[in-house]
Amino acid sequence: MKCPICQSTKLKLIWNDKIRSGKNSWTSKKHKISHCQKCDTIFLNRRNADLLDNKVFRKKYDGSNSILRYKSFNKPREKNKLDRIRKYVNFTNKLILESNCGAGTNLDYLKSKAKLTAGLDSEIYKNHVKKKHLFFSSLKELKNSKVKFDIILSLAEIEHQYDVYGFVKSLKDKLQKNGLLIFRIPNYNNIYMHVLGKKYLKYDFRTSHNFYFSEKSSDFLFKRLKLKVFKKFGLQEYSINHLIEYIKIGKRVSKFKKIINKKISNEIMINIEKSLVATSFIYIVRK
Ligand SMILES: [Zn+2]
Repeated sequence: MKCPICQSTKLKLIWNDKIRSGKNSWTSKKHKISHCQKCDTIFLNRRNADLLDNKVFRKKYDGSNSILRYKSFNKPREKNKLDRIRKYVNFTNKLILESNCGAGTNLDYLKSKAKLTAGLDSEIYKNHVKKKHLFFSSLKELKNSKVKFDIILSLAEIEHQYDVYGFVKSLKDKLQKNGLLIFRIPNYNNIYMHVLGKKYLKYDFRTSHNFYFSEKSSDFLFKRLKLKVFKKFGLQEYSINHLIEYIKIGKRVSKFKKIINKKISNEIMINIEKSLVATSFIYIVRK
């Protein structure tokens, strides 16, 4: 077997056990997960090709694929990501595409500033999104269009891709020269993993993620695709109280107490982000 990103055969088996298959369920069979010793990418040995259809995916993993469900689940999370990105990227008068746009929460938010907003996702969102934006229901449809974009957002999907390299490359092809590609990438080497080890991985390794990235493997991927890293930063998506509760009970947290006040918790979260052990990264790369 070879690493799907760098083709190296220097692989280390880091998991051979059940993995999470839904909100609170695990596979009955064991799954192997490998860690490439050259580029640092971690991947399911048997990658799942069914993750790319959001009609199926969101129903299975979010509980529903409805527009209402998308908005209630994603709106606050997405707004926070976008506000952070806006510190470095000017969306005014730009041609913007969001891949995996869902019900178009981010596009709605960006529309008044942008020159053009377009979304790519399953056809189930088509009628809703195309009321306000251009819409592509497949990567193939996007490839066939003549539009090229100044900014392409991909904030919750890179880890689900079957062929990450090919996916990023096809987005790069739809970018204007000097255009920006913006990814949110879950960080494997996050504080939970460092502190909790297997108690964290038991919940983190799941059938819905084909890949797990680190700063090193993300840098490697973009370098290989000749994309220049313009800005990268950590994005800590849970409060420090969530981590404290996780440490206390040793499993995934649903409810947690506010032991540490908001001001101190925010200070700690900033430190976590600065030291790049946050739960995710935002990568802004330039063509
Ligand atoms: Zn590799």
